[in-house]
Amino acid sequence: MDAPSRQKALFSFDNSFVRLPERFFARLDPTRVASPQLIKFNTQLACTLGLDLQGLASADLARIFSGNEVPAGAQPLAMAYGGHQFGGWSGQLGDGRAILLGEVIGKVGARYDVQLKGAGPTPYSRSGDGRAALGPVLREYILSEAMQKLGIKTTRALAAVLSGERVRREDSLPGAVFTRIARSHIRVGTFEYFAHQQDYDGVQILADYVIARCYPQAAKADNPYLALLEAVIKAQAELVASWLQIGFIHGVMNTDNCSVSGETIDYGPCAFMDQYAVDTVYSSIDHMGRYAYGNQRPIAQWNLAQLAQSLLQFLGETEDEAISAAQQAISGYLPLIDGLWLSGMRQKLGLIEERDGDKALIDELLDLMEQNSADFTLTFRTLSELSGGKGKADQAFGTLFRFPASIEGWLAQWRERLAQEASLDGERIKRMKATNPAFIPRNHLVEEVIKAAHEGDLKPFERLNEVLANPYEDQPDAAHFARPPKPEEVVRATFCGT
Ligand code: AMP
Ligand code: MG
Repeated sequence: MDAPSRQKALFSFDNSFVRLPERFFARLDPTRVASPQLIKFNTQLACTLGLDLQGLASADLARIFSGNEVPAGAQPLAMAYGGHQFGGWSGQLGDGRAILLGEVIGKVGARYDVQLKGAGPTPYSRSGDGRAALGPVLREYILSEAMQKLGIKTTRALAAVLSGERVRREDSLPGAVFTRIARSHIRVGTFEYFAHQQDYDGVQILADYVIARCYPQAAKADNPYLALLEAVIKAQAELVASWLQIGFIHGVMNTDNCSVSGETIDYGPCAFMDQYAVDTVYSSIDHMGRYAYGNQRPIAQWNLAQLAQSLLQFLGETEDEAISAAQQAISGYLPLIDGLWLSGMRQKLGLIEERDGDKALIDELLDLMEQNSADFTLTFRTLSELSGGKGKADQAFGTLFRFPASIEGWLAQWRERLAQEASLDGERIKRMKATNPAFIPRNHLVEEVIKAAHEGDLKPFERLNEVLANPYEDQPDAAHFARPPKPEEVVRATFCGT
């Protein structure tokens, strides 16, 4: 088969972003790498995207997903955006090392971006080299796919390729290219980019594009732009509530890392927390704890307020009307996320009905977990398996707490509450295990994988992905992956690695 026809068979691109005005992006090809070598290709995702892989060898995939061979129909570009970083306006940012190849329509009719990350410098690279190191690429692969399997909205990992080049960070590291799939790469910072230049035509064109692509129902509203804002608020409330319920800390919730489609995006120094503490921070650059676990709820609202500000011109007939509509929409966020959080936490406790004391019961458990340095994931997983009456397993549950006796009173209250809705153990345990995972990408496991990969061994990477593909299943031969880190294994800081 000759090269062009093989390429044609792989992607059927349908590129819409490139049809927007030229100031929205810079067109350029990826920069070639020295000797691409495939690390991983996500065949299942390729199938969801409707890609035809027949006849492709791993060397072909390596060439395409390193950027060395631009597939037929691709119209490569780097997107322009701005953003608030750690609360301050940074001005223009943009894809400094990512190149959008184009868009494909997946099997169920959804549109997806196909983007290479680490594909070389762009006009938005500023002082960066446009490249990515192997460690962060493996990290994003593992975490984004794990999030998907946990049922959380996220960008996806289609491929990881070694570049055969070194990248200079603090050390010299192996380079890699990551292929990211997203429902859209448009960020709150994309809206801010135009609004801060008072390019209101740009804001409107972008808003119309996002409505058509992500929120078509908003087009039917009296004010489609207000409906867009409300839809993004809802999507972010759902996303952040789901992070809180799984113990995920994004780490860099800058507005340029806040997707308007409501997907988790830009996996940098993100981490799953081991011991529960609301002020947990892993990111080495988050000195003030702005993006600590417990701050994610208000920070998302702050980000959404920047979106509202960018859309302000379009939210009402008069300035007063627009401000009042924006304020009303933004103030709807907290009740929304709090309601989602409460219903999700009820599920984690195995409760179906809604009762007045539920929030107090949940808060009390979380307080006890925090005071006793209990492991977040293991606490809920082990609780899932307890019976509705006192039993032997209570002891194992108690050992998750520094002072096991301190949890006895709470367990009795929980059982009383289960009895109030005539909960049946078998069904309740099944439900709880389907919402409280056994396996999350714990930091020390991810670090182990990266360390092995640096020594040329990718087997631990494969195995971790395999275990994380079924996070809610008991996997008796994977006990090592369910346990929290030993004191000497604890990872205290994570790095962007950019
Ligand atoms: P991040 O902190 O990864 O969200 O990135 C913030 C900004 O820095 C974005 O505009 C990125 O495109 C840019 N950036 C990050 N790493 C690099 C790099 N190695 N080369 C060029 N630009 C980068
Ligand atoms: Mg970013």
